[in-house]
Amino acid sequence: SRAGEAKEEEEEEYLVYRNPSEPVEARVSDLLSRMSLREKLGQMTQIDRSVADSAAIRDLCIGSVLNGGGSDGDAMNRASAADWADMIDAFQNSALQSRLGIPIVYAVDAVHGHSNVYGATIFPHHVALGATRDPDLVRRIGVATALEVRATGVHGNFAPCVAVCRDPRWGRSYESFSEDTEIVRKMTSMVTGLQGSPPIGHPDGYPFVAGRKNVFGCAKHFVGDGGTHEGKNEGNTISSYHDLERIHLLPYLDCLSQGVCTVMASYSSWNGSQLHSHKILLTDVLKDKLNFKGFVITDWEGIDRLSHPHGSNYRDCISATINAGVDMVMVPFRYKQFLEHLMHLVESGEIPMSRINDAVERILRVKFIAGVFEHPLTDRSLLDTVGCKMHRELAREAVRKSLVLLKNGKDPKKPFLPLDRNARKILVAGGHADDLGYQCGGWTISWQGSSGRITIGTTILDAIKGTVGGKTQVVHEPSPSPATLADEDLSFAIVVVGEAPYAESHGDNAELKIPFNGTELINSITERIPTLAILISGRPLVLEPEMLEKVDAFVAAWLPGTEGKGITDVVFGDYDFEGLLPVTWFKTVDQLPINAGHEPYDPLFPLGFGLRYNM
Ligand code: BGC
Repeated sequence: SRAGEAKEEEEEEYLVYRNPSEPVEARVSDLLSRMSLREKLGQMTQIDRSVADSAAIRDLCIGSVLNGGGSDGDAMNRASAADWADMIDAFQNSALQSRLGIPIVYAVDAVHGHSNVYGATIFPHHVALGATRDPDLVRRIGVATALEVRATGVHGNFAPCVAVCRDPRWGRSYESFSEDTEIVRKMTSMVTGLQGSPPIGHPDGYPFVAGRKNVFGCAKHFVGDGGTHEGKNEGNTISSYHDLERIHLLPYLDCLSQGVCTVMASYSSWNGSQLHSHKILLTDVLKDKLNFKGFVITDWEGIDRLSHPHGSNYRDCISATINAGVDMVMVPFRYKQFLEHLMHLVESGEIPMSRINDAVERILRVKFIAGVFEHPLTDRSLLDTVGCKMHRELAREAVRKSLVLLKNGKDPKKPFLPLDRNARKILVAGGHADDLGYQCGGWTISWQGSSGRITIGTTILDAIKGTVGGKTQVVHEPSPSPATLADEDLSFAIVVVGEAPYAESHGDNAELKIPFNGTELINSITERIPTLAILISGRPLVLEPEMLEKVDAFVAAWLPGTEGKGITDVVFGDYDFEGLLPVTWFKTVDQLPINAGHEPYDPLFPLGFGLRYNM
C-alpha cells in the first residue's frame, strides 16, 4: 500500500542525529530541526521519579528524571542495585518510544558514593576529602562512584559540590572540601574521575564524557553558596565581584577546564539577587565569558523558591529563570503547570525562541556526548562493582588519609597514640561508636541520613573488634556505668561522639556544641581512664578547653562513610596520620565567621593543622 511505502521511505531516511560518527554539533542541529516546540520544552524539564509515569515521559518528551535525596521510609531505600537498574530502564524505554526516540538522562546525588543505593560504597564526605589534600585520591573516588552509579543505569551525578564554605554554621559545611579556594580547586579532580579525562587540547567549557563507565558531573551550586551571611543555607552572599570571583568562582574554572557537563544554580543570592534569575552571572559570566557549553540546571524546585521582583507569580518566575540562562528545570513535581506556562511564555514572545533553542542544544549536546543515544539502557555487567571490595578498600584509604590528629598525649614527649592492640581490656563508649548511619551523615540512603545499620559497612566498633588481639576484651557501653568506669582492668577508652546526620537547612546551627552531651561524656571517662576521643562531625565543633586539656588524644574523623576500618588502621598505628585541617577550628562561636583571610585570626587550630606520629 502507498501508506506502507511512505512509511518504509521514512524509515530509510538518513538521520544525521542517529549516526554516532557524525560530529556532535551536526547531530545536535539535525535533531533540533526535527523537534516541535512542545518536544523542546519537554527536553528542558526534569521530573521526580515518583511522578514519572511512562505516558508523561513518552508523550511530553521529558528530558530527564531524577530522585532527590529520598525520604525515610521510601521503598527504594532498601532496593538492590539491580532494582534501581530495572526502574531506570523502564523510564528509558518510555522515552525511547517518544516520536523522535530521544532518551532521558537519569540523575542522582551520589555526593559521596552512590549513596542512594543500599550496599553501595559510601566514601567520606567532601570536608574529609579536603583534609586528605590528595587530588588523585579524589579523582579515583570519582572513577569508582561513576562505575557504581552507571551500574544502576544512572547517567548523571549532581557532584561535586565546589562550595567554598566560609562559615561552619552552614548546614552544608560538610559538602565543601575546604574554606580555602585553592584546596577546593585541587579537589575538583572529582570531575575527571566521574567523566573521564578529556584529551589534550579539549576546549575549556565544552562538555566531555569518556565512555560507558563514566557519568556526567555537575558543578554546584553556582555561585557563592558557601559565602552566605552567618552561614545561612540559601542565604545571601554579600561581596564585591572581585571577592566573589577570587573566593567562590575560581573552582568553576577548574571544572570547566575538565569539561564538566552541567552546572547547578544556587538557591542563594549574591548581594540580594537570587542566583536562579541572575542573568549576569549565569549568562554573561558563566556562558559568555567562561565559555560554558554544557547545560545549567536549577536546583530542586528552584523556580518555586524564587521571589521574583514582579511578585511570587509562578509564570513570572519561570520567565525570569529561563531568560537568565537556565536550560533545564528541576521542576520536579508540577511539570504540567510548568510546561503550560512555558509554552505561553514562548508563544507570547516573553521568552525568545532563540533562548529555547540554545537551552535544548545544550541538553542534546550533553546527551550525545554522554553516549546516551547509543547506550540508553543499563550495562548490567557493571552491577558487581556496587559496593565491591576494591571500592571499599579505596574508601578505607580515603578515611585513613582524612583523619586529623589534634592532640596526642598530655605531654607531647609521651604520645598516647598509637593504641596497643594487645591491651587487656578496652572500653568503647559514645553513641557514635557503633552507628553506621551517624558515620555516613546526610545524603546517605535518605536525604537527611539516619541512624543505625542503614546500609552495608563497618562501624568503628566492628573495626576495633576486628583489629585487637585475640586476648583483648572489648567492652562496649555507649554511656558507661560507674561500675564499668571503676574496672581496674581497663587500660584505656575510645570514646566516639559527634553530630547526628542532617542535610541542607536542617543542619544550620549557631551553637555548634558537641551534641548528646559529648563533652560531658568525654570528661567523665577521661577522669578515670586514659582516653582517645574521636569526633564524627561535618565541621569543627566547640572543644571546651577543660575537655581538650584532660583528654589524652583527640582525632577529627569527619563523616567517614561505611569503612570504619580506616580509623583503626591509623589509631592502632599501621599507618600514620596524614590529614590536615581543611578548615579553621574556632575557639568559640563568637569568633564566627573565622576562616583563612578573615581577621582577627586567633583560632584553636589553624587551617592546615594536623599532628603525625613521625613529625
Ligand atoms: C540540593 C542539591 C541537590 C538537589 C537534588 C537540592 O535540595 O540543594 O544539592 O542536587 O536537591 O536532589
